[in-house]
Amino acid sequence: MRIPSIHPGDRLYDTRLTMIARLYQSGSMKLRCRCDCGVITSVFWCNVRRGKTKSCGCLRRERNGA
Ligand SMILES: [Zn+2]
Repeated sequence: MRIPSIHPGDRLYDTRLTMIARLYQSGSMKLRCRCDCGVITSVFWCNVRRGKTKSCGCLRRERNGA
């Protein structure tokens, strides 16, 4: 998979996440991100690309009406 052209401080498109740092874990890239809600989380880049990950999880909780 190509290395995305994103840098610390960039918002990941179509998400609530702002990148803090790149992490690598056994070949797949993870990103350390800060969510708009203030939570620091690590997400897999491939999941962001597929639209599976759009927040730290708060978005899903809100949609469930919690
Ligand atoms: Zn969040």
